Amino acid sequence: MAKLDFLDELIDDLKEHNMFNTIRTIGSSMGAWINVDGKKVLNLCANNYLGFADHPRLKEAAKKAIDGFGVGPAAVRSIAGTMTLHLELEEKLANFKGVEAAISFQGGFIANQAVIPTIMGAEDVIFSDELNHASIIDGCRLSKAKTVRYKHCDMADLEEKLKQYQSARRKLIITDGVFSMDGDVAPMDEIVEVAEKYDAMTMADDAHGEGVLGRGGRGIGDHFGLHNKVDIEVGTMSKAFGVVGGYVAGKKKIVDYLRQRARPFLFSSAVPPADVAACTAAVDILTESDELVKRLWSNADKLKKGLNALGFDTGHTQTPITPVLIRDAAKTIAFSKALFENDIFAMSITFPTVPQGTERIRLMNSATHSEKDIQFALDAFEKVGKDLKVI
Ligand SMILES: *Cc1c(COP(=O)(O)O)cnc(C)c1O
Repeated sequence: MAKLDFLDELIDDLKEHNMFNTIRTIGSSMGAWINVDGKKVLNLCANNYLGFADHPRLKEAAKKAIDGFGVGPAAVRSIAGTMTLHLELEEKLANFKGVEAAISFQGGFIANQAVIPTIMGAEDVIFSDELNHASIIDGCRLSKAKTVRYKHCDMADLEEKLKQYQSARRKLIITDGVFSMDGDVAPMDEIVEVAEKYDAMTMADDAHGEGVLGRGGRGIGDHFGLHNKVDIEVGTMSKAFGVVGGYVAGKKKIVDYLRQRARPFLFSSAVPPADVAACTAAVDILTESDELVKRLWSNADKLKKGLNALGFDTGHTQTPITPVLIRDAAKTIAFSKALFENDIFAMSITFPTVPQGTERIRLMNSATHSEKDIQFALDAFEKVGKDLKVI
């Protein structure tokens, strides 16, 4: 069929440019050690920051929810899909984060598609950090608002742009809380300050800050002491919370309106009972104790210090996201393969996900790694780094 030939060309083009991704297959539950393509390896690239993806309390809550509520909601939230479980999660999340209200969605990606187009339209202007996540970019496109990109975390540039569009009907500043490739944190305190000056709304996508930043993992708002000052916090239940789902937390007015008008809430089925109950169990655990969050950070600290001592460049991360900069596409891919041969699962990240010249192995440790696991990783990095002449 000639009409599909263009796909062969597109795929060949990806392969030629080292951009064709061979997806590894996981044959176990998520944990410090997992089974990948039939091999037991140390997992250093999942978003399972706190080990919740395989936590006994979350699994128990999910099983109980299946017995009590079945496996599917069989409706969208606004018709017959809102169960007591959904409301319980939303209330507990809002309390945990110290904000007025929360609404849950099917994913973090979807939460951005829900909130941005619902509150912004063609007469409005969005100010978006140039490194924002794809789901924010798509949410902005869907809204039809004019989207102005400001330089990464550059407050002078943001202010300049706010000045330029002062007369817009509504203004919204959007930033990732933690930037997932470099692990740096948006200066949310300064963003809120400049937003107040120009009467702009503020929104942080806290996907990598949730369960990580702030007291006991309460996220970026808590990290900066900005409770109820960030108008919208978007988050995911798929990273530190270990399950799946997303949410918008913040001002009650915004949440109330999303329940009426957000399209993924109105036109796509609710998250199933088991997942919702598991998410609530994760929030409960974090509300009770900051032990896992502390362990996550101390593991990250050991890993980073060890890598730096070996001579690796880990960039300017401020979080457990640890980029190991190799700065060459072919070498980065070879590095990841050699790590795998040494029983380490850590994926390479190359252009277009990151700029050319900043190719890297991105490490994400978790609270479930033992001290021995971290040392195992450092030994493998030393061996592969020397073999490939990176250190
Ligand atoms: C991972 C991520 C998302 C997507 O979350 P899902 O729940 O996996 O859909 C959205 N925004 C940011 C910043 C992310 O890092």
